[in-house]
Amino acid sequence: MSTTVTRQIVRIDEDLCTGCGVCVSPCAEGAIVIIDGKAKVVREELCDGAGFCLGVCPTGALTVEEREAVPFDHEAVEEQAAVAPRTYIPQVCFNCGTDEDHAPLLPVRTAGTSTWVCTRCLPALIHG
Ligand code: SF4
Repeated sequence: MSTTVTRQIVRIDEDLCTGCGVCVSPCAEGAIVIIDGKAKVVREELCDGAGFCLGVCPTGALTVEEREAVPFDHEAVEEQAAVAPRTYIPQVCFNCGTDEDHAPLLPVRTAGTSTWVCTRCLPALIHG
């Protein structure tokens, strides 16, 4: 029997999820996979609850909730990466089109949408 703790973990609203897969790349731990057209946290121990996936979801399907769950497990993350290489979905800056080979990209919400912005365009987005 697994011991559980009260901690933060990603919650996915399947009614809002379109299965677009945009949230897969920001999850460094590989906790999110698309199964039968819906995003799922495949194993709770892979989700650290940091919520880097939240900002990119175009439908608001992702939230972080606090509840009972098995603890986050770094070793499980490494084991998962070894047996199941992650799906990589490249992103570009919504403003200038730069890809992440040429500038760091950050998830943002702007004008009511979730997207990515490069670090060169971010200051203009903040300061206008
Ligand atoms: S980004 Fe949102 S809508 Fe797209 S797969 Fe992930 S949870 Fe579903």
